[in-house]
Amino acid sequence: MNIDVPVTDIAGVVDALRARNVDVVRVSYSDLIGVDRGRDVLLEELGSAMGHGIAFCRAVFHTSPVGDVVPVSGGLESGLPDIKAVPDLATLSPLPWEPGAAWCVADTHLHDGSPAPEGPRQVARQVAARLETLGLRAVIGPELEFYLLEQDEGSAAGWRRYADEPGNVYVVGRKGDPRGTLLTMLRYLRDAELQVTAANHEFCPGQFEINLNHSEMVDAADRAFRMKSAVQEIARHEGLQATFMAKPFNDEGGSGFHLHVSLVDQSGANVFGDPEGEHGLSDTGRWAIAGVLAHAPALAAILNPTINSYKRFGPDTLAPWLIDWGLDNRSAMVRIPPERGSASRMEVRLGDATANPYLAMAAVGAAVYLGVRDQLEPTAPLEGYGYDPSAAPMLPQSLPEALDALEADKELGEVLGEFFVEAFLTYKRNEVERFSRYITDWEFREYAYHL
Ligand code: GLU
Ligand code: MG
Repeated sequence: MNIDVPVTDIAGVVDALRARNVDVVRVSYSDLIGVDRGRDVLLEELGSAMGHGIAFCRAVFHTSPVGDVVPVSGGLESGLPDIKAVPDLATLSPLPWEPGAAWCVADTHLHDGSPAPEGPRQVARQVAARLETLGLRAVIGPELEFYLLEQDEGSAAGWRRYADEPGNVYVVGRKGDPRGTLLTMLRYLRDAELQVTAANHEFCPGQFEINLNHSEMVDAADRAFRMKSAVQEIARHEGLQATFMAKPFNDEGGSGFHLHVSLVDQSGANVFGDPEGEHGLSDTGRWAIAGVLAHAPALAAILNPTINSYKRFGPDTLAPWLIDWGLDNRSAMVRIPPERGSASRMEVRLGDATANPYLAMAAVGAAVYLGVRDQLEPTAPLEGYGYDPSAAPMLPQSLPEALDALEADKELGEVLGEFFVEAFLTYKRNEVERFSRYITDWEFREYAYHL
């Protein structure tokens, strides 16, 4: 938000916001699963919030989507202590669907002033710092897919697919989006300064995609985190629900979170490509690809973080199934788009839209770091249409399998932070445990009549 005042001049920032008729600042931070938590702070309180931080119970990081406090270290067993969220005023932006409000993200600190080690923004920052030790920065362009749902009082779920008509992939306008909601979102997201570039109808009925411009990884993660929150908010303003759930329907495809990842040196020059290198890729680019392949089973735990995520994978889905890479090949887990020069990059297609943007980018950044550090070499690229299980190793088939892979991948864990990995594993194993005891509608339909 251009306020013409240095962000260190807090009184100046407050005056500048007041002059723009802002009376509330929404302060957001990400919990472990990427849910936007925070407070709406009256403008006159912003100065003191900057001074002492805004108190939140630390266990909010570890609250399940259904509101249970999961017993993660530092939370419940420590007596539910506070953390402090300190607004990062460099991220101030308008909040155009709530006139009179501005928006920023916060950094989270423990009481001794150190960063909360499970804070997703902190995890992303740490990985960016590790890449810096190799003289590299990861630049990431996120693409997020989601479904829009409309209320359906007659169904058990209460929601059905919005505009549930077939064949609307890349169809523009009101045919696949009768209320024009996507265009409303695109404009709002632009005005919220999230640097969105384009929006389109995706492959499945009621499924849409919005692309964000690329930028350095912590900034890209901030914008993707805010974009997911914003899409859900704007949908609510329209009487709809937006879901980033990986595979919400049996009869339609899942929603991906593709990351276009390049590497730049200290001068900002792309070092992923090299016109002299094989396939136009540099050594660094090749090693980065190999890092993502080598650490893919552990990455899945973070990029595919729900029980439902593993139902998105499979042959003929446009989602991956095997740990492979290919040149402009959408059936591979890592696709190298055809552009070279300053646009040389890999598209990591592994993640689904439920992934926490900070953690997804941190995990991929960590795998890239390890690939480059260890000068790993990738296998030969996939030729033709993929999904041949004899040609490449398979991704984990379930969340428990992926969590075990994350626990076993000590190198990745060291880069992401051991406390964070422990917190994530505890949180997610609690989810697996709760699910294992829950009777699903499939079981009842399958067994209750004949058995
Ligand atoms: N929806 C697919 C996925 O789950 C991706 C479709 C596409 O290529 O954009 O990853
Ligand atoms: Mg897509």
